[in-house]
Parts: sequence; C-alpha cells; structure tokens
Amino acid sequence: MTTKIVTKENISEAAKCLNEGGTVVFPTETVYGLGADAFNSVAVKKIFEAKGRPGDNPLIVHISDISQIHLLAREIPDNAKLLAQKFWPGPLTMIFKKKDQVINEVTAGLDTVAVRYPSNQIAHDLIEQSQKVVAAPSANLSGSPSPTVCSDVVDDLNGRVDFIIDGTGCEIGLESTVVDVSGNTVTILRPGAITLEMIREFIPDAKLDGGLIDNDQVPKCPGLKYTHYSPNADVIVVQGNKDKVREYILSHLSSDVGVITYKGGEYPGAGLVLDAGDNMTSYAHNLFTYLRRFDKNNIKIVYAEFSVEEGIGVAVRNRLYKACGHKIIEV
Ligand code: AMP
Ligand code: MG
Repeated sequence: MTTKIVTKENISEAAKCLNEGGTVVFPTETVYGLGADAFNSVAVKKIFEAKGRPGDNPLIVHISDISQIHLLAREIPDNAKLLAQKFWPGPLTMIFKKKDQVINEVTAGLDTVAVRYPSNQIAHDLIEQSQKVVAAPSANLSGSPSPTVCSDVVDDLNGRVDFIIDGTGCEIGLESTVVDVSGNTVTILRPGAITLEMIREFIPDAKLDGGLIDNDQVPKCPGLKYTHYSPNADVIVVQGNKDKVREYILSHLSSDVGVITYKGGEYPGAGLVLDAGDNMTSYAHNLFTYLRRFDKNNIKIVYAEFSVEEGIGVAVRNRLYKACGHKIIEV
C-alpha cells in the first residue's frame, strides 16, 4: 500500500478517504492517532491490522462536535456533562455505557465506549470534514512508544495506512486521561494531562483506579495490561536523592548506555544523554520520542533519572514504569 504523507493543506483529501473507509493518521494535542470510520467494521479492522493491535484492546472514538456523543453513549451522567463542559475539547477521554449500534470491533465486546473530543485544529477539521466519528488509537506499531512527531509515525506506519497528516509535534506528548463516568463513581483508568487534582476540583470524590496504585491489581483500562511504550533498549528508572541518583548512573556508564536527565546533570562517557527538562510537563512532552531516539542510536541500556511528583508526574510515572517493565532502582 502506498501511504500519502500530506500537510493540513490536504485535509479535505484525507477526510474523503476516511469517509470512504480508509485509514488516516492525524496529529492531536496528545499523540498522533490512527483513524478510521468508527461505524465501518471493515475500516476499523484495518486499524488493528496496521498496528498489529490485539483485538481485545478497545479503541477511543473521536468526535468534532459535542452533539455527536449521542451517536455513541446510551446515557450521559451529570458528572460527564460537567467534565465535558470543563475539559472538552481537550486531552480527556470518557467511558460511557454504549449504544447498541456501536460496533464490537471498536469496544472489543465491552458494554462501554470511550469518547474523546480533541482540541487540535487539524484533528478537529479532519473529523468534521469526514462527516464521521473516528475510532483512533495511538499511531504506533503495537507495543512501541506512542508517536509524538511525524517522523516517528512514518517509521512505524509508512506503507500500512492510506494517509499520514504531518502536523509537526504534539503539544502534550502522552496519551489522554481516561476517566470512567459510566458507574456511580468517577474513576481515572489511565492518568494523563488532565490530572486527578483537576478533576477533583469539580468532582471531589473522583479517584484513581486501584490498578494504577497497586501492582497486584489488574488495571481496568484493557490497554494498560500489555507491555507497552517499550523501546528495544532496556530502560532502568533511578529515583530518590538527586546526588545519589547521579552517583549511581555515573558508575554504570559506557558508550552503549543512554541517560535521560531530569533537572540537569552531565554524564560524560554515556553514549547519548537526552534532557527531559526541569518539570514534569516537559518530561511528558519528551519521553516517548526520546525512547525512540535511543533505539535509533543503538543504545542498549537507558538510565532514566526520575522523581515522584504529583500532577502530570503521575502520568509520566505510569508510562515510564511500564517502559522499564518496573525495573526501578531506589537510591
Ligand atoms: P490508545 O488510543 O492506543 O491510547 O488506546 C486507547 C486506550 O483506551 C486503551 O488503553 C484502551 O484499553 C482504553 N479504552 C478504550 N475503550 C475503553 C473502554 N470501553 N473501557 C476502558 N478502557 C478503554
Ligand atoms: Mg496506544
């Protein structure tokens, strides 16, 4: 299959392709998404094929107008209305009880459906012009880090999808917050840029899913049970006292070792050192594309400086701990 790589000037061409059952990769404010018409089962199957995604991992349906929620959700609880009013369009996905017409390929047979209304202008215009609602997981090969720049998408999916729209870099860099609003309590199933603190401002008894806190519990978000976000290199997280973190990493350096620094720190002798910045927002923005860059530079082991922080730090911790397969050194 030949993939057309285009810019926002060609949205209408890509939208027509979506409308007719094709696959289009598009930028969002979180990560790049791989989209298809959510009500066309042949089109949705193409997403799973292109990614090599397990069929039991459901997709998020993207809308371009709040009224489209009625195509998907059987009921819209008051808490969901409140969250939509505060955080949509934006990096928040809500889980609703699904309408019968929502197809099994999208929900992986669950009785619920995940819905997001993205704020990125290209995503918005594409969905609107396609005249469809668009099922779209992250636009990576299953198991590898989500793509946050167009070249990462091209590395994974060139020749496997109809269109890729280059929208340069994604602002946030981590996937959306997933919140279950289908039951009596509002529960965060996957942490993201819309944090627990932000949600609690409006829904004080909102909570994090137990599977995100306790390693022995299975996460309720089907996608989080897979090995995920992992580069080929072995990732080891080093956290604790800043001086001791540095001392530990310095004593393990060689030319095939890479380091993610956080809040400074030089590592002469390392094969590649990438700076995650000095706050968790920039760590989130850089993490996935850095993991890919280590592989491209033949780095075999990556030490990631980390410190446990609240806010979007919870989402960075979730992705980083999965990337390292829970190899965490506490110093
Ligand atoms: P991705 O778009 O690749 O980040 O994947 C979507 C994420 O949303 C996966 O982790 C899914 O397991 C999760 N998800 C989608 N639909 C549902 C649902 N109905 N209930 C719970 N999690 C869901
Ligand atoms: Mg994904």
